[in-house]
Amino acid sequence: MRTILLALIALLPNLLLAQNRPNVIFIISDDHTSQAISAYGSKLAQTPNIDRIAKEGAILYNNIVSNSICGPSRATLLTGKYSHVNGYKFNERQFDISQPVFPEELQKSGYQTAWIGKMHLGSLPHGFDYLNILPGHGSYYNSDFVNSKNETHRYEGYVTDVITRLSKEWLESRDKNKPFFIVVGHKATHRSWLPSLQDLGAYDNVTFPIPDTFYDTYQDRIAAHDQDMSIEKTMLLAEDLKVNPDYNSKSGWSSYNRFTPEQKAQFKAYYDKVEADFTQKKLTGKALTEWKFQRYMRDYLATAKSLDRNIGELLEYLDQTGLSKNTVVVYTSDQGFYLGEHGWFDKRFIYEESLKTPFVIRYPGVIKAGTKVNQVVSNVDWAPTLLNIMNTKIPSTFQGHSFLPLLTGKTSGWKSESYYHYYEYPEPHHVYPHFGIRTDRYTLAKFYGTKNFWELYDIKNDPKNLHNLYNDKRYAKVINDLKKKLVEQIKLVKDDEALPLVD
Ligand code: CA
Repeated sequence: MRTILLALIALLPNLLLAQNRPNVIFIISDDHTSQAISAYGSKLAQTPNIDRIAKEGAILYNNIVSNSICGPSRATLLTGKYSHVNGYKFNERQFDISQPVFPEELQKSGYQTAWIGKMHLGSLPHGFDYLNILPGHGSYYNSDFVNSKNETHRYEGYVTDVITRLSKEWLESRDKNKPFFIVVGHKATHRSWLPSLQDLGAYDNVTFPIPDTFYDTYQDRIAAHDQDMSIEKTMLLAEDLKVNPDYNSKSGWSSYNRFTPEQKAQFKAYYDKVEADFTQKKLTGKALTEWKFQRYMRDYLATAKSLDRNIGELLEYLDQTGLSKNTVVVYTSDQGFYLGEHGWFDKRFIYEESLKTPFVIRYPGVIKAGTKVNQVVSNVDWAPTLLNIMNTKIPSTFQGHSFLPLLTGKTSGWKSESYYHYYEYPEPHHVYPHFGIRTDRYTLAKFYGTKNFWELYDIKNDPKNLHNLYNDKRYAKVINDLKKKLVEQIKLVKDDEALPLVD
């Protein structure tokens, strides 16, 4: 009896350690928005596997990003810092790898770390025992991957499937004596939305409802008026909608030139029918724009269908291997996206659809199934939250805060506003730079540079951001209070560029 007891006591630290050291799988897609996820109430498509994570854990309804574009969002994930502090304000730059990233802290505390799939930061950050990432945007078909040794290999197949396969291979080959943290970075659903062969035509029998803001006239909203990201004018027939695309083209993120002959035959057969439909209809004006919208929805949602299926495959793997019970699973995207709202695709704006990003998390035994979180949290909070979950010290230089307490029902003391700053202008989509705050009720933003102006939205009464209330005298006090909060935030996050622009 005594021997058994002593053996149990000897085991105790390990058991406690295992409990406090869950594994984490952080799945982050690209441009996949809440409007396309059924857990968020979407009627456009069913996403049973993302929904499963939400159902078995928590769903966050107001997770905003601090700069709504791809690379900057991932740089914020890695550093727990805003773009102006980690230096990655724009896409297509080189992330400064001399700065600390949170996976280094995990390594120090005994975790194995890996990032597989899309990262797109122009450099290979420290902090990962294993990397196998897409060069730049990678390709939807037969993509190259770059590993930790900077070697490039080409993997035949559809990129979302390949990323899942490589993730499972790493999970199989990992050191099973250590807890793990893995980022599964998906290319889907980034432009230009090439579906998997098995999903071609998945939505051909659906006519998608035109969003009620599709024909927005942008009254009192200068930046919304001046953008270049509309389905009508900006979306390309060949490259985006595959009406006779150049199958030999090496340029861009589509890489139509990488198909095997068999893949190309199947892909082209489908899109030749699309081209025939386009040619035969001879559409112009609104009819043409709405045809483009339907094609966009079909390609985007077919691309998302593979994404959800692959998430399901990973969840299934966790079930089969018994890892589910001690593995936290997160699904999120680098930002939200427009699915025809305001007539747009793309992201960038502080408006709801692109400001918010989906975030669901399952943490067995800690987060109650069916938890719903309405507080405003930000992607700057992701790194601290992950470190908190993995029982690893959060460096004091990180700017975000762990929202793990919110996920377990402890809501008191959480900050009520979050900061935003977007920079990339004028290319590629002519969205004026702007900064602002989102509270649980309002969004206040200052646009600057070529044109200088303010916007205020009442999220409760105007969730679609159609009514700029900044010049409405009834809101003078609200604006005054929000500006004070904004200045507080700017000082807190040390955004020296923004401070003199508050007038
Ligand atoms: Ca993105």
